[in-house]
Amino acid sequence: MRHLIALFATSIVMLGASANEPAHGTKPAPDATKTDAAAKLAAELARPAKAVEKAEKPAAAKEEKKDEKSAKLHAPLVEKPTIDKSLVEKPAKVSAATADKVAAAVSTSEDEDQVDLSVKIAERLAEMRAKQAARAAAAAKARKALDAKRKKEAAIAAAPKISNHWDYDGEFGPENWGKINPAWAQCGKGNRQSPIDIRDGMKVNLDEIDFDYRPSRFSEIDNGHTVQVNLAGGNAINVGNERYELVQFHFHRPSEEKINGKGTEMVVHLVHRGAKGQLAVVAVLLERGKPNEAIQTVWNNIPLEKGQLGTPGVELDPLELLPNRREYYTYMGSMTTPPCTENVLWMVMKQPMTASPAQMALFSRLYPLNARPLQDGGGRMVKESN
Ligand SMILES: [Zn+2]
Repeated sequence: MRHLIALFATSIVMLGASANEPAHGTKPAPDATKTDAAAKLAAELARPAKAVEKAEKPAAAKEEKKDEKSAKLHAPLVEKPTIDKSLVEKPAKVSAATADKVAAAVSTSEDEDQVDLSVKIAERLAEMRAKQAARAAAAAKARKALDAKRKKEAAIAAAPKISNHWDYDGEFGPENWGKINPAWAQCGKGNRQSPIDIRDGMKVNLDEIDFDYRPSRFSEIDNGHTVQVNLAGGNAINVGNERYELVQFHFHRPSEEKINGKGTEMVVHLVHRGAKGQLAVVAVLLERGKPNEAIQTVWNNIPLEKGQLGTPGVELDPLELLPNRREYYTYMGSMTTPPCTENVLWMVMKQPMTASPAQMALFSRLYPLNARPLQDGGGRMVKESN
């Protein structure tokens, strides 16, 4: 009998504990009174249960005394009837007299069977609740993991794609250069960008540009954006107190720069680098007219494949790209292709050069449009030769 009561007490204590632990995910009992009663019962049982456990130890088997007080204390155990309604309906209202009565009744074997059944039911219930709590916890964990996965995927989809590819129209066009690659941010955010519409220049006595050019060996590439010619060393300009080495020249169609809103069919940019790495670009506008010898040499030697660097066995004289008159406009701007680096000294020759219609047509087959649109002048000073 004591064995049964002990088991029952243990299972009720377990039930009481699980009902009071929201961390297990168990929902609160719908009937608060019942829950309170169960909690009280559990607390009340905690001590006697220990006592019973002690009594159950083999050494304590000698104990035969069964005092009335103990019977009263244990009475609520058998009264835990929320599990088996056939026993008692309202455990919270159990009186001492009822407890005595029930304690007496428990002595019959029929009742012992019922108590045994109640214990089994209580154990089963506790087991079910534990499983339910475990399932709820597992489901919550899975939901959390799924949420985290979705957030990560959304972040990846929203993140800007970094690329080294740029073009003159569409998704990779000039409007987006600044967003394509963080290293090209100046293309979008710079305030001294090129090209600009050159107007309202201040007429002053500008230093003459001393072109120290000579016939030179060169290499040549169609780089996917233009045809570019890289000069062997020894060509330079002297302007102000600076000397800038001619590094390369290349072409745009139509001309990127405009003068008082007017552009030309093409332009050649001669890119120079100073001792400290600063850039100085001389722009020569190209109009239809007589053929240009240097341009013909360049066209003759365009490599068959894009991206392939050709090294022709001939020389080219960059002086042939320059007009006779050397007046120019000058302003501070930027590279006109990514990364749109600023602090570039621009010198735009006032007199255009010519290329034949056939020479123009040949380039337009390769690059019908490779000019960056005009950028905001932003009140920058433009000077021009008197
Ligand atoms: Zn250019």
